[in-house]
Amino acid sequence: MSTVIHHLPEEVANQIAAGEVVQRPASIVKELMENSLDAGATELTVLIQDAGRTSIQVIDNGCGMGPEDLPAAFARHATSKLQSADDLFALQTMGFRGEALASISAVSHASIRSRTVHETVATELSCDGSQLGQPKKVAGSIGTTITAKNLFFNVPARRQFLKNDAIEFKHISETFTAIALAHPTLKLQLKHNGKDVWLLDAGNARQRVAQILGKKANERLVPVEEYTDVVKTEGFVLRPEHARKTRGDQYLYVNKRPIRSGYLHRAIVEAFEGLIPTEHHPAYVLFLAVPSDRVDVNVHPAKTEVKFEDERAIYAILRSAVKRALGIHQVAPTLDFETNLQQHVDLDAQPIPAAPSIQVDPTYNPFHATPSTRSKGYTSPSAGATARESFDFFAPPSSPNSSQGAWDFESTAGTDTRPESSGFCVFLAPHFAVSSLKSGLVTVHIPRAQKHILHQELIEALHAKERLTSQTWLFPEAFEVATSAHWSDWVDILPRLGFQWEHSSEGLNMTAGPHFLAASEAMDWLHDLLRAAPEEEEKALETYVLARLDHWSTTAPIPTGGDLQTLVDRLFACENPWTNAQGKPIARILDGATLAAQFA
Ligand code: ADP
Ligand code: MG
Repeated sequence: MSTVIHHLPEEVANQIAAGEVVQRPASIVKELMENSLDAGATELTVLIQDAGRTSIQVIDNGCGMGPEDLPAAFARHATSKLQSADDLFALQTMGFRGEALASISAVSHASIRSRTVHETVATELSCDGSQLGQPKKVAGSIGTTITAKNLFFNVPARRQFLKNDAIEFKHISETFTAIALAHPTLKLQLKHNGKDVWLLDAGNARQRVAQILGKKANERLVPVEEYTDVVKTEGFVLRPEHARKTRGDQYLYVNKRPIRSGYLHRAIVEAFEGLIPTEHHPAYVLFLAVPSDRVDVNVHPAKTEVKFEDERAIYAILRSAVKRALGIHQVAPTLDFETNLQQHVDLDAQPIPAAPSIQVDPTYNPFHATPSTRSKGYTSPSAGATARESFDFFAPPSSPNSSQGAWDFESTAGTDTRPESSGFCVFLAPHFAVSSLKSGLVTVHIPRAQKHILHQELIEALHAKERLTSQTWLFPEAFEVATSAHWSDWVDILPRLGFQWEHSSEGLNMTAGPHFLAASEAMDWLHDLLRAAPEEEEKALETYVLARLDHWSTTAPIPTGGDLQTLVDRLFACENPWTNAQGKPIARILDGATLAAQFA
């Protein structure tokens, strides 16, 4: 390796900088929207194709750029917003590094179309992978349109690193809403693949929060206002009784910049202490204003982290501001006539839904037949017995690894383990089935078998082979998508797990869930699932879903008669009917050799 030090070519330097600035499509959306804000735009449209892989376009009606400024806009460290290092400590704008457009154009086919009040036509300039094109005169109104196409076309590794469209678009939508909340007077639109995702009229802070958190949020908001020399706190928290199990709407800003701070988040959570159940999360939209010389936003190009001079003071002030707001508005568990009234009004405004008709299939058994041929109805179980996993499998008299080998999976390979259809299947209390095989008997631990079959169904559903059978609910359950940060990640997976829904003016009405859960359990399961984004790796998703299932499916009725045989048949249709995921036995063979050992 040579030791000659040389300057990196501009292109390479831009690509390296792009690695930090452009982490994913949402980073581009953020930078472009911030540029439009800095340009004084009052209307802003964001058009996305394929979660930003194919195209990201931001259209504003801001001040625009003159034709002579366009090439400079693409240059690195070129900015109109900062002249000296001193300016860094008195930032009034979102951008200041002059890195965004250079970085974006280093990793995409970028173009700017812009026009100021001084021109009659717009100018367009492209920049593909840092290669500037020729400026062209084009028609266009005052303002700026910046387009980034074919993201990472020249960095295949980065392109492959992108998550699926649902995840990438979720990040875009979150970026959009975070900015929208801080700029209520801005008229905003977000479209994905030609469809409107957000259409936000200009309004005041409260209206904007209600637009984003959902219509119902308006009456649930508690205003927070606290002015001190160190920090000015403004915004809203959601009344504690509306805290949700999913950690969704938590927005914190410093000088109108969305920030991430586990430290300050804790101050807010502390203010809610004792008011919300554990495992619930407060929702908040809070704006901190700090004199710009007391805060450093120059920590990271993505600019979501900040450093305060008086971090501990801000913590204490924020906590007491939220506490005081909750106190003033008497959200401690006392009667609140105002809210009750509001809810009443709300109910009146809603047409009373007609009770859906139910179809009951009296012959239905969830363990009967194959998933695809099962009917959609559901009926109460025919057998009263309820089996629980807490019963222990009886200890087999011979060791599982005994030389007879009849108890262990390997050595059953030569045995014909298919239960005989002409044979018998009987129930042995507390929870065993004994079924005949061609070459002996098989004993089955029924609860484990039921769970194992369910696992198998779920795994197949997750791998999109077979949908889990749905059970339609008598009363739909309301679900607010806005409260779930991870909804868009799960939206494709949930129907496979048996969930169905309809869109309502308020959000969603969940109408059906997986066949083995009651509506309330299914809703709890849903909230539980939505706590995290599903992992890309199918294995991880499987583990996550199954772990959450185990909590909800511990009890199932013991089937009787032909259903018991069906259960055994279905168990033996599973890949490994012998042991469950925890390594515990589900089925064991009882053959002559084993009996001989018992009678020895
Ligand atoms: P920064 O925002 O840090 O200055 P950028 O690379 O994002 O750096 O933008 C470079 C320059 O391009 C800005 O300083 C601004 O002068 C100009 N610019 C970018 N976007 C717009 C826009 N939407 N309207 C007007 N000017 C813009
Ligand atoms: Mg910028």
